[in-house]
Amino acid sequence: MPLKPSLLELTPDETRERVMELGGKAFHAKVIRTAVLNKGILDYQGITSLSKGVREMLAEEMPILRGREVDRSLAKDGTTKLLIEFPVEGGKNALIETVHIPSHDEAKGATLCVSTQVGCPVACPFCASGRLGLERNLSKAEIIEQYLRGRDIGRLSRSVVMGIGEPLLNLQNLTGALKVVREEIGIGARKITVSTVGFPDRLAKLGKTNPGFQLAISLHTPFDDQRAILVPAMAKVPVADVLCAGDLWFKDTGRQITYEYVVLGGLNDSREHSERLAARLRGRRCTVNLIPYNPVEGDRFQRPSRDDVEEFAEELREAGVVTTIRWSRGLDSDAACGQLRLHAAQ
Ligand code: SAH
Repeated sequence: MPLKPSLLELTPDETRERVMELGGKAFHAKVIRTAVLNKGILDYQGITSLSKGVREMLAEEMPILRGREVDRSLAKDGTTKLLIEFPVEGGKNALIETVHIPSHDEAKGATLCVSTQVGCPVACPFCASGRLGLERNLSKAEIIEQYLRGRDIGRLSRSVVMGIGEPLLNLQNLTGALKVVREEIGIGARKITVSTVGFPDRLAKLGKTNPGFQLAISLHTPFDDQRAILVPAMAKVPVADVLCAGDLWFKDTGRQITYEYVVLGGLNDSREHSERLAARLRGRRCTVNLIPYNPVEGDRFQRPSRDDVEEFAEELREAGVVTTIRWSRGLDSDAACGQLRLHAAQ
């Protein structure tokens, strides 16, 4: 039997049509969307302004959540990682991760890290997500569901699209989901950051539509030959083209780019790297965000020492590059990104 369309797949207009098709009233659509998306009620039984009959009919015909939480791990610093399984029509169920990262200042709310694909086709050798290749894209509803499950853990004030997958390869579902996240769930555009390996053509097109989120580009090295190894899907795209795509984005959207740089001990943190990177970024208004490598089981890479990361950051700063360091959170709960899923699949 085909899966019935989830509420989260529908736009407000489509919800109204569907509710009326099912015998409900037009105004029910607004009541439902406000209750679910704005107030966070995740079960129709909790929408008590609707009659019992309507609630039961909706639960049957227009499900809200489709996934199942199969694992939850809570780190000492309060970070919660969810492993969610989504059903697939006639196929293998899909496993993805969503991470809820509370701010150090509790009043500020949390950051939610969401996935866009089941697996990833980019296959960066230091990243757990690409180990098993790409299974499929997540639907708009499956992306939104992560926000609803995340907010159920605690209030969200920011979001990073930095979970499993390459967002630019699932753009339509992602932009559909983020529209709901901004307009109905209520996380502002400036509080949402999408991270990508930076396909220049796709970025050029996307920038023209001014999609209303912040962009981060995973650069990882200033050298073409090394980037071909670290970001295999971008092997044919020179670093200069990626930086030009960043410039164009800034010109079109007025928003500065963050360049992400996974620091792999002894591999991309030499003085030669900081000098070349600084030379490449000279005159560009952007930030470099250093991410010390989180060890992935069986990898050949080294986690850099705190001193080495600080020193690399200092070299960049002295050369005029605005540089931040992201010390990962929740490391004691199954380490780096994508690893819950990797372990579940083994
Ligand atoms: N595909 C997108 C978004 C996913 S990952 C991208 O590549 O940007 C978000 C960031 O985490 C990327 O910069 C990625 O390179 C980084 N990352 C992946 N595995 C990591 C690891 N083991 N340690 C540290 N950072 C990692």
